[in-house]
Amino acid sequence: MSKKKISKEKSIRRAKTTTEIAISLVLLGTCAFFIRNSLNHAKTVEPSPYVEQNNNIDIEDPSATTLPDPNQTIYESLSVNTKDKFRGDLILVNKEHQYFGGDEDLVSITDMNYENEINFFSAVDSTYTILKEVYSPMVKMIQDFYDKYQNDTLIIYGSYRTTDFQQELYDNDVANNGGEESTRVAKPGFSEHETGLAFDFSETENNDYQGTGDFEWINANCYKYGFIVRYTSSKEKITGFQNEPWHFRYVGIPHAYYMDANDLCLEEYIKLIGEHPYDKEHLEFSDDKGNEYEVYFVKSDDGNDKTTVPVPAGVRYEISGNNVDGFIVTVYKGQKPIVEEAPTKTFEDASEENTENSTDEGEDDNSEDTDDYSEY
Ligand SMILES: [Zn+2]
Repeated sequence: MSKKKISKEKSIRRAKTTTEIAISLVLLGTCAFFIRNSLNHAKTVEPSPYVEQNNNIDIEDPSATTLPDPNQTIYESLSVNTKDKFRGDLILVNKEHQYFGGDEDLVSITDMNYENEINFFSAVDSTYTILKEVYSPMVKMIQDFYDKYQNDTLIIYGSYRTTDFQQELYDNDVANNGGEESTRVAKPGFSEHETGLAFDFSETENNDYQGTGDFEWINANCYKYGFIVRYTSSKEKITGFQNEPWHFRYVGIPHAYYMDANDLCLEEYIKLIGEHPYDKEHLEFSDDKGNEYEVYFVKSDDGNDKTTVPVPAGVRYEISGNNVDGFIVTVYKGQKPIVEEAPTKTFEDASEENTENSTDEGEDDNSEDTDDYSEY
């Protein structure tokens, strides 16, 4: 009885041990699977063939054979939310591409002017707001204009609009048009003003800003601050809007520079960047201050919540959605990232970086940058 019991216990123990071994083996296997999987995920993305071409050129140089090339860009994967293709400085919002926003980081122009003791321009209404990141470059541009011409007649006549407000404007314009579809006011959901990235100038003398006289300087130099004159008569057929010399849109300095220098409207520029995907030749250029940039496109993975975006390691970059079919990566060559440890950055972090940077440039470094611009 007792013997039987012992043997039973033994067999139970043996069975237990066998089960434990089996479980351990399964666990080990699972661990190995996960480790291998995470290694696969941690693996940096394949370098762009375009980059490899560059390497070949470097290898031909005998002095470069023994040392690693410091100019070689190493890319790594960044996982971003696919729906973030609807956000960022480079989103294309027009009659065909609706804006899907709602969580804009806005500031009151009147409050910010008061806090910063700025009195050389004002908003026509104290409720007017604009994206926080756009406020600083806008003020910097107006400040330089004021310093140059001692002209304090500029007012912000339009800035961020809620979709309800856009609806109101649209309905009024349709009513004034005798019920005809409006050609001057964008349909609600399709106005750049709903993004917080755009504003309209007017002036207190005639309430009619045409970008002429003193103001010609603003329209000619706005690209240096990251703005474009969004609707011009020469691009009317592409944008679908009449000439609006008063409507400025923020896109960031590299892009504003490129569009100005190559006479491209935003529709044409977004199309051009789409022709420079990650695995083909990137768009590379320097601005008139000698800053070098590299820009490329990454299609969004629309079937998945996340899209893998290759980004350069150890170099400052920004990601923006294009509001159409993917992401635009802007590389600030020769500039270190503001936050080290780029691999764990999210899209939100990258946006914060933009904001921090523009704030730094706009407020802390004001005098130095102002000097640079007043040379033009
Ligand atoms: Zn406007």
